Amino acid sequence: MNHSHRILTFLLLIAILSPRMLLAHEGHSHAPSPQTKQRINRLNTETQKLQFVVQSRTTDTVRPDLAKLFDPFKNKVSVRFDREFLYVESNGMPDHSMMTGITAWQQQVPLPQSYTGSNAWRIPLQPVPAKNPLSTKEHFFRGAIALAVNGVPIFNPIKNNGKTDTLLAGELDQWGGHCGRADDYHYHIAPVHLEKVVGAGKPIAVALDGYPIYGYNDPNGKPPTNLDWLNGHKGPDGQYHYHATKTFPYLNGGFYGEVIELNGQVDPQPRAQGVRPSLPGLKGAKIVGFERPKPGSFIVRYEVFGDPRSVQYTVADNGSATFKFVSAEGTTTENYTPRQGGGDGRRNTERPTGNEPERNQGPSDRGLLDGGRAGGDPIVAALDANGDGQIDKAELRVASAALRKLDTNKDEQISADELRGLSGQRRGGEGNSPRGERPPGQAGGPKGPQPADGPRQPWILVHADEIDLDKNEIISRDEIVGEATKAFAGYDTNKDGKLSQSELSGRGGARSAMGGFLKGHSKEIDRDGDGILTRTEAIGNAERMFAKLDSNNDGKISTEELEASRRK
Ligand SMILES: [Zn+2]
Ligand SMILES: [Zn+2]
Repeated sequence: MNHSHRILTFLLLIAILSPRMLLAHEGHSHAPSPQTKQRINRLNTETQKLQFVVQSRTTDTVRPDLAKLFDPFKNKVSVRFDREFLYVESNGMPDHSMMTGITAWQQQVPLPQSYTGSNAWRIPLQPVPAKNPLSTKEHFFRGAIALAVNGVPIFNPIKNNGKTDTLLAGELDQWGGHCGRADDYHYHIAPVHLEKVVGAGKPIAVALDGYPIYGYNDPNGKPPTNLDWLNGHKGPDGQYHYHATKTFPYLNGGFYGEVIELNGQVDPQPRAQGVRPSLPGLKGAKIVGFERPKPGSFIVRYEVFGDPRSVQYTVADNGSATFKFVSAEGTTTENYTPRQGGGDGRRNTERPTGNEPERNQGPSDRGLLDGGRAGGDPIVAALDANGDGQIDKAELRVASAALRKLDTNKDEQISADELRGLSGQRRGGEGNSPRGERPPGQAGGPKGPQPADGPRQPWILVHADEIDLDKNEIISRDEIVGEATKAFAGYDTNKDGKLSQSELSGRGGARSAMGGFLKGHSKEIDRDGDGILTRTEAIGNAERMFAKLDSNNDGKISTEELEASRRK
């Protein structure tokens, strides 16, 4: 008998013995009666016989209870199992609508995935309590932590920067989901709405350690009162399960059961496969509708600062996809065929899925230098909406709207004066240097980089999205000082708390917006003019920048204060 089989037998024995043991104790004192003693004795001596029964009934023929959880969705989700695992196959696309309600959008849309064959979800049928349960506050920022009973994966509510609560950040739709970099739809909180389909008080998901996840209430209709730090407890049946909650951790806050952690995610788990390159966040976007005009065709309707737009896309059976991007400026079309090896069912055991939309590398890794504005060309600056120094597809699509913002007198043309007016404000350094890599000291003043569409704006205003790390729309003094400290440390290679010109010309610190700012404005920040930028000077500068905007002096810059700093 192999090891796993022995464990199985043991567990089944417990399952068979325990109800009778409970009966034996019911309503009596703890000293067993002679009859009970006799019964216990008999049960103990029946071990061999019971083992025989268990062994002759292979688990392959007994449908596990866990499989039944997926039955309400059996037209979309299929399950198979062996002794150890339940394998769940789906395309990851729920029946319900998607995307509506997202206000922080990475421009990804839902595409069917091939969670099938060896790329199916794998859930242990005999969960084993872990000696040291792992928390989702510190682990598993990548990949799924649970699988909803409709075959849609559920990721950690904290996104893969380890900080941002996706729900609070506006990244989730009305159903608690959004799409990853591979255009893979997934939830980040418990999909309690599935109770409408499965029935109140039934599990809505299963954690990847094998324990089920219930909605807000127990099967008796009452909310649980004794949830542990993992959002779980033992039900009246003695079985452990998790619950949904309306606040963090929203679902299992870690794993009560054993899981394998590899590269920051539960291993193994299926791999999502995209057909197109991932896209950056789109400022000002809000998703207002989702339609499925016919099978394989989808429309995501959204607004950018109120302008209606849509992505209309169609997926063919072979996985190729056509995207039409529709706006008032016209329609552009992109065609994609599946990548080599797409949907080939390889498990993601050896390398990261990379299927999260969140900026796990940060905008700095996309060449963001010196405040991130693309050079001094007002046209380029207007087009480069996310300020990463390049004009990507998404920015190109909205190019004409972006350029129109340069038309300050609204006469439907951009005059030479309007162009000059913009470049004129930039005089003093940003003129011709590409990507803001001008020599230090030629900067146009310590006021920050150029906006795309108007007068020079405060640095904090321009970079608010990058600075507000916890995306609560309030920028704290800590966040600003933290940015400055981090950027300073990036340059300070010899760790002496001072930046020499040679350290400043290194690239380390420039890998953040504040880093670029320090470099570009080192002369102004160097208050005593000794040619050395000290940490105190750098942080002092950040604090002054902060104080200018924090008009009520409460240590926080509110959305209102931020907006008030905008120069018209
Ligand atoms: Zn996500
Ligand atoms: Zn419960």
